[in-house]
Amino acid sequence: MKVLVAIKRVVDPNIKVRVKADGTGVETANVKMAMNPFCEIAVEQAIRMKEAGAVTEIVVVSIGIPQCQETLRTALAMGADRGILVETDAEVQPLAVAKVLKAIVAKEAPGLIILGKQAVDDDCNQAGQMLAALLNWPQAAFISKITLNGDHADVTREIDGGLEHLTIKLPAVVTADLRLNEPRYVTLPNIMKAKKKPIEVVKPDALGVDVTPRLTTLKVQEPPKRGAGVKLADVAELVDKLKNEAKVI
Ligand code: AMP
Repeated sequence: MKVLVAIKRVVDPNIKVRVKADGTGVETANVKMAMNPFCEIAVEQAIRMKEAGAVTEIVVVSIGIPQCQETLRTALAMGADRGILVETDAEVQPLAVAKVLKAIVAKEAPGLIILGKQAVDDDCNQAGQMLAALLNWPQAAFISKITLNGDHADVTREIDGGLEHLTIKLPAVVTADLRLNEPRYVTLPNIMKAKKKPIEVVKPDALGVDVTPRLTTLKVQEPPKRGAGVKLADVAELVDKLKNEAKVI
């Protein structure tokens, strides 16, 4: 079975995000970029299923600027087989991601699509659900476990009240939650091997998809700075402040 994994290039989650001086967005020039952490978990899951013999090919897809090829190479170094870059300079919003992936699915016919549960830059948590709706395929978002079982997958989902166990018919769309696995580190020999793995570059137009943003960002600004704290003498003073100043008790 072929598995398709969608991976997004985002600002490295370990660095502090800065807002552009003109308030139009977040600074990405000369900033360290990385694979979205939930997408890393998605790639790792596909590799584990291939190692277990349930998957034959892993295709990774990224949509964005040419530098997304670096992110695809990282996934190839982890163990994916080939990459597809859907190249565009446009800001790609979740609906456009879902439409592009639907077009790729029409070409590749995977048995399973794994996405991250959300991209840590836009925090949208939408692309997987939109893709499943466009394809009219079964979906399981926020999975923390998956076992392939012939034409079905048994999944565990993390929901507010606890864990939900579902059996979904394949082909299906799933999105990876934090506890699904711990992604492996890429080794130097695998980085070298990944250089020889193929990456196909296509434009959204060639897939018949219009990726023009539908939402407009009005303004992006830093959260207000936190004021300095104060030291209180005792609990009585704390209770007094909570009651009379903060008025929370
Ligand atoms: P979001 O709905 O934006 O929070 O993104 C959820 C998931 O959709 C991500 O973890 C990726 O798997 C996928 N995704 C979002 N944007 C892109 C992109 N530009 N290229 C490839 N996959 C993406």
